[in-house]
Amino acid sequence: MNSEFNKRPHRRKNILTGEWILVSPHRTKRPWQGKEEKPQHKEAISYDPKCYLCPGNERAGGGVNPDYKETYSFKNDYAAILDGPFESTKDGLLEAETETGLCKVICYAPDHSLTLPLMEDHQILSVVDLWQKEYQELGAMDAINHVQIIRKQR
Ligand SMILES: [Zn+2]
Repeated sequence: MNSEFNKRPHRRKNILTGEWILVSPHRTKRPWQGKEEKPQHKEAISYDPKCYLCPGNERAGGGVNPDYKETYSFKNDYAAILDGPFESTKDGLLEAETETGLCKVICYAPDHSLTLPLMEDHQILSVVDLWQKEYQELGAMDAINHVQIIRKQR
């Protein structure tokens, strides 16, 4: 694409609908004089009775966490991919196939306030050990072709 199009207003054609839409890329360079928020400093608590991940609490999916004392992992109650049979469909422009798999959640520590930067070395090592254990166990399953460990900020 001609780089001038990224600097000035223009129309782009949606190749699926044939419609033309207005694009104004230069507007991203306008100054911001709106409200700015200061970072909030929440008091650190080691246990939150409303947290779905804290030991002994009911999770969002209805299960109950054990009273874990170190790291803890469980099957994600709202997994991005699920077990199930292969299915496919093709209907007009829509072509889809099921994608199956397993998602797990790892709780790093029973202390609600702990994050990796605040943890002691032996606690971080426990997290890394559990990452390795889950990676190896999931990777050994016939139906699993790829294991990816991601970290989601609370
Ligand atoms: Zn918690």
